[in-house]
Amino acid sequence: MIIKDLTVLNAEKPIGTGKKPYFSWKIESEKKNTFQKSYCLQVSDHNGNIVMDTGVVESDKNAYIAYDGKALESRSEYSVKVHVKDSNNDEADAETFFETGLLKHEDWSAQWIISPIKRKKNKPGFRKQFSSTLFRKEVRIEPSFKKARLYATAHGAYELYVNGVRPDERSFAPEHTVYEKYLCYQTYDVTDLLKSGKNVIGFHVGDGYYFCLNTKPNMKTDNQHAVLFQLELEYENNKILTIGSDKTVLTNEGPVVSSDLFAGEAYDANKEIVSWCTSDCELNGWLNCKEKKHGYDNLVAQNSDKVLPVRIFDVKEVIYNDKGECILDFGQNLAGRIRYKDSLRKGDVIRFEHCEVLNKNREYYNNVLQAGGVGGGCDQTDEYVSDGHEKTYEPHFTYHGFRYVKISINGKAPEKIETERFKAVALSSEKKNTGTFECSDELLNRLYSNIRWSQYSNMLSIPTDCPQREKAGWTGDMLVYSKTAMLNEDCTLMFSRWLENMSLEQDRYGVIPMVVPENGNYPMMGKIMTLTAGGKGKGTSSGWGDASVIVPYSMYEVTDNTEVLKKQYFTMRRWCDFIIDRAKNYKPKKCNTPEQYEKYLWDTGYHYGEWLIPSQSKNGIDMKNLKAIMAESSCYTAPIFGWNSVNTFAKIAEILNREDENNALYANDVIKYQAIADKMKDAIQNVIISKDGSMPSELMGAYVLPVYFDLIPDEIKDAFNKKLVDIIEKNGRIMDTGFLTTPYLLDALCKIGRGDLAYALLYQKKAPSWLSEVLQGGTTIWENCFGYDEDGNPGNLSFNHYAFGSVADWIFRNIVGIIPSSAGYRTFKIKPDLECGLKSATRTFETINGTIEVKWKINDQKYILDVRVPCNTSAEIILPSGKTKKIGNGEYHYEEQISL
Ligand code: BGC
Repeated sequence: MIIKDLTVLNAEKPIGTGKKPYFSWKIESEKKNTFQKSYCLQVSDHNGNIVMDTGVVESDKNAYIAYDGKALESRSEYSVKVHVKDSNNDEADAETFFETGLLKHEDWSAQWIISPIKRKKNKPGFRKQFSSTLFRKEVRIEPSFKKARLYATAHGAYELYVNGVRPDERSFAPEHTVYEKYLCYQTYDVTDLLKSGKNVIGFHVGDGYYFCLNTKPNMKTDNQHAVLFQLELEYENNKILTIGSDKTVLTNEGPVVSSDLFAGEAYDANKEIVSWCTSDCELNGWLNCKEKKHGYDNLVAQNSDKVLPVRIFDVKEVIYNDKGECILDFGQNLAGRIRYKDSLRKGDVIRFEHCEVLNKNREYYNNVLQAGGVGGGCDQTDEYVSDGHEKTYEPHFTYHGFRYVKISINGKAPEKIETERFKAVALSSEKKNTGTFECSDELLNRLYSNIRWSQYSNMLSIPTDCPQREKAGWTGDMLVYSKTAMLNEDCTLMFSRWLENMSLEQDRYGVIPMVVPENGNYPMMGKIMTLTAGGKGKGTSSGWGDASVIVPYSMYEVTDNTEVLKKQYFTMRRWCDFIIDRAKNYKPKKCNTPEQYEKYLWDTGYHYGEWLIPSQSKNGIDMKNLKAIMAESSCYTAPIFGWNSVNTFAKIAEILNREDENNALYANDVIKYQAIADKMKDAIQNVIISKDGSMPSELMGAYVLPVYFDLIPDEIKDAFNKKLVDIIEKNGRIMDTGFLTTPYLLDALCKIGRGDLAYALLYQKKAPSWLSEVLQGGTTIWENCFGYDEDGNPGNLSFNHYAFGSVADWIFRNIVGIIPSSAGYRTFKIKPDLECGLKSATRTFETINGTIEVKWKINDQKYILDVRVPCNTSAEIILPSGKTKKIGNGEYHYEEQISL
């Protein structure tokens, strides 16, 4: 047996960690049925002193084991040793290390610095924001240092250069967070970039999220790019030399003339300062910085989840249309930016206008502007002024949602394009890819790819709704999609940070806002919503604030991560208390509901309802029409999502109580919240669901939620189920569910024995449907399932929204047939559904214990199944004949004759 992938905070040998890391590993053995019997984990400091020792723990737990030892020291290396004994009594050891960052505020001796030149207020839009700022510090370094670390952060987005070289390709450091309370600092290993003698540390700083007027409109007191950095060199004799930012740092204007996260960047290569970040730089015109007391209280170590390029696309086609436009098609809708190898003359201006789709005449079509200013509400344009030298330009502090880029040079479409000069760089936060899927149906394969691309595009520092219009951390979208996200990539680090920020945004009433970080115009929008609905606190909605409970729970379900449940525990509880308070103390006008039920129904306040039910949003978001449908659908979404949060929270308390039996908090909460959840369920069953098996609305989703959540009293089940089927049949077997009900639609049908109908919806080719998007050439998942109008012109909603992609979770469980039966897939079933009508399907999924692989095909009435099961898990295989096999780790092959 061997131990594999021993990680700290889901990374191999991280540096710059925070105070409380956690550890995970996997075991591998050639012997079948191998389980971990016990582990012993020890952490030692650099002197070899043990600072944490679990002793021998009889347990199969191998992931998310939290550090629980002596307080960790800053900037120190710790070694981690794990010893595992398995069920065959084989033993193995593994070792890794981690290095802490600056854990205390006092560790920072560096000063925040800004340029001495005061700036006027900027405005949102192209060419209306601040130009970038350069900071450089020359440092003299004595020879024979062993290692060098640079800790850095900024107000703005920054790129770090050491002697003109970037230590990595990351973008948008220091990430998008609730800056006043949570500002990430990054740790870089710069040992190999420094030399003895003169060195230069340089920062190129732009507005990024920090100064973007859509995300941070109020900059009266803080409107200067600021930088904080501390270089620490460790010498052979263990002496540490610290050099920090201070007023000796020099500053100058950068070549980015203006960079708006939404509208785009203007760059003038003529403003570049030659060798600005090397010791050869001419220092005329550089000014000394001013120190600024921005403080260190909000600084938090960033984990290994930086924004990086995930793929580079070549030009697929150059389109010249009748309008005289020249448009590059990169073949894939994505979040990212252009990379252009310049060949122009000095002063020539090349413009890049990005868009997701073209109109019917293959002309540039800006659906962001069409959306009437929601969120970003601007064009997505970058502009580059050449200095006549051949060099590669990629925007620094902006990104766009696009597949197409309209090119003009000096205001005109170029007659000829050298395609190899243009690339599209797709960006996403760094995450381990954990899933693959392929089947015999090309349309489904494309659907899967589209889901993956909407995920890449909307996991950029925070989970976003769309990369081109709002780039906002809409909580509801993540509630709907979080489980699928975790089945594709390990999003743990990014989600954990986002959830910590969610906790910071929770108000004193327990309200979780609709958007996290809550910035720009969203707080105002939320306030208006709350006031009109007669409530208190920040603006929220059922299904949106509920993300505070459902997202951590989905993470737990997929990876058995109880750490995130512990960390988010009080945030979840306060959110549930808010729901309970709303139910108890607020009544709708003219309410006849008996008090015993009314006090357990969340039936007041502002709600988005299902949101974007296809038939209702065919022509985009028209708030007037949508209001009625939001009110109608929130009659069921609010009480059911409210109950679901409280019920799930009670389950979470029970999970934590199992892990920590001595904790009275969890034990009491299980009893308290389960009792309330049961009352809420009772109220739903007696008030929302009528005795004749009907709902207050005849919308499809109204019938989906009660079926999925087992809310229908037995005596009316048949009538209720029939209603659901009738509505779908009447709609021509076309789905008509919004964000909040779509993830449950196909499962609800399977539950009532109508898997056939679930497949009819999945394979439906007529819009709105998943495959109609594929057939219309979609390369991502759309916000509006219709996408285009009858004339073939695109609508004004986004073509890159992951919510409807939640169907992948269902596909994995049904078509591939990997069905988890405990958290983290420690036990699971393998039961591909041959009713799916396909000839084959394959999936690999990297669990916390290793790879599950399922590969099935049908060859002339013969069913062939190959599976791989990782150690420390067990699977139940269910064959078409009904025979079952219980297996542990290993590779297995099965064949059975079938008649389809
Ligand atoms: C966003 C959504 C979000 C919604 C809330 C939209 O503008 O793009 O995805 O959840 O607003 O209603």
